[in-house]
Amino acid sequence: MTQTNQSPPLSQAAQRFLSRKDFKHFINGKSTPALSGKTFATYDPSSGAVLARLAEGEAEDIDHAVSCARAAFEGSWSRWTPYERQALLYRIHDVIDRNFEELAHIETMDMGAPISRTANYKPFVLKVILFFASQCGSVAGETLPNGFTGTMTMSLKAPVGVVGGIIPWNGPLPSQWWVLGGVLAAGCTAVLKPSEEASLSILRTVELLHEAGLPEGVINVVSGYGGTAGAALARHAGVDRIAFTGSTATGRKVIEASTSNIKRLQLELGGKSPNIIFADADLDKAVPAAGMGVFGNSGQVCYAGTRVFVQRPILEEFYARLVAFTKTIRVGVGFDPGTQLGPLISARQLDRVMGYVKLGSEEGARLIHGGERLGGSLAAGYFVSPTIFAGVENGMRIAQEEIFGPVVSVIPFDTIEEAIGLGNQIEYGLGGAVWTRNISTALTVVNGIHTGVMWVNCYGVIDPLVGFGGTKMSGYGAKGGRAHLDAYLYTKTVYIDL
Ligand code: NAD
Repeated sequence: MTQTNQSPPLSQAAQRFLSRKDFKHFINGKSTPALSGKTFATYDPSSGAVLARLAEGEAEDIDHAVSCARAAFEGSWSRWTPYERQALLYRIHDVIDRNFEELAHIETMDMGAPISRTANYKPFVLKVILFFASQCGSVAGETLPNGFTGTMTMSLKAPVGVVGGIIPWNGPLPSQWWVLGGVLAAGCTAVLKPSEEASLSILRTVELLHEAGLPEGVINVVSGYGGTAGAALARHAGVDRIAFTGSTATGRKVIEASTSNIKRLQLELGGKSPNIIFADADLDKAVPAAGMGVFGNSGQVCYAGTRVFVQRPILEEFYARLVAFTKTIRVGVGFDPGTQLGPLISARQLDRVMGYVKLGSEEGARLIHGGERLGGSLAAGYFVSPTIFAGVENGMRIAQEEIFGPVVSVIPFDTIEEAIGLGNQIEYGLGGAVWTRNISTALTVVNGIHTGVMWVNCYGVIDPLVGFGGTKMSGYGAKGGRAHLDAYLYTKTVYIDL
């Protein structure tokens, strides 16, 4: 691992945006201060310096935003045809395309991911927008054969109403699109609550949506803390559906809050994904993919392959190769184009990750690489070296709990049955992968592992046409694929007396 440190060549557009320093909510098409007048600081994780101040939303701001979203839902937006919404999504696509460099730079400043990563979100985000544009015209009910009622029967699909989108900090620039796309394609309206740690790319995106012709009140953004603004959104009786992405612990609170008015929920929660490498795997591909499958975004990825199971005959070779690969990873400030890993999001997350590193050694795992907070020119930021624990047992806490940092647990196995058994011994069920040249081994593992997504000889590929989702305590509800839009609609059956 090498360190990089270079001063940021921020684009002029991002500089202009960030120079505002004080950011308000975006409600009903307008920049709107918190009703209490309160603000809070957001930080640059590469330096720990205050980057900007944000309006601190509370229940009354959520209430205001929800009533604007409701008015928009009941108003002229409800008369937009699918073609009109599709055309809007195409205009949004073009505006986002033109302004992507600014958005990527804002994201890098706000949450620390290197520009090599945030700039690469562009093809993905644009595909997600195109995917949802393509869905607008595909909303259809059914005409059903007459049964015994003497009536003609059919079903219609209708938008569920006001959606609350609660977004985490680990990639708000792409993450918000799973909510925005569904809302706009279905004809719903929304109030987004970004993470208090990283709100800025969402606040800029909502401005761009309005430049593309989005009517006021359709998408609103309220910044603020989870326990106040987030909780108020989750329990608000005027919200029909919550799309939540975040930790399993918070997801549970969102479920409890949803009982206020029996909200529909989509929950994309935590993970501790198994990445299973058989002795016949192509290690030239498997080792870097396993490394970046957990270290990418400094480990702050829900489907990170944090439990790497390695078949015993190749164990020592795998350790040697993974350490050698990890030494080539460049950690540093986000604007150096050579940087592959940036800082963790916050001092709190840094403490949490370092706590797990200490715990791993105490539990008896062998630390064979990393495990330090980086100093020197990076000392002010929240940088951790990519960390490898060898000889981990699946029952150890470092192998069971979501660390959300660049820490991998390598766990040996002998047989395919053992790998499947160990892979499933976890409360989560988000992602997983298998590396082998044997198709039967690959498909036996795919069938045997209980997760919402499995990769074969690759890791982390996501296509919105197919999408992904979780099972077990990683949540429910698809992101992408045919099921996504359906979840923003409800079914109305109609009986017509003939
Ligand atoms: P978090 O649960 O702390 O916060 C997520 C969001 O919920 C934030 O906007 C936060 O302000 C809000 N929130 C906090 N308390 C709330 C409450 N009581 N009611 C309503 N909202 C509340 O998660 P995080 O630390 O921001 O993100 C990391 C977690 O997100 C990890 O567990 C990760 O696995 C998960 N994640 C999952 C996916 C996925 O698709 N499965 C994707 C990204 C992140």
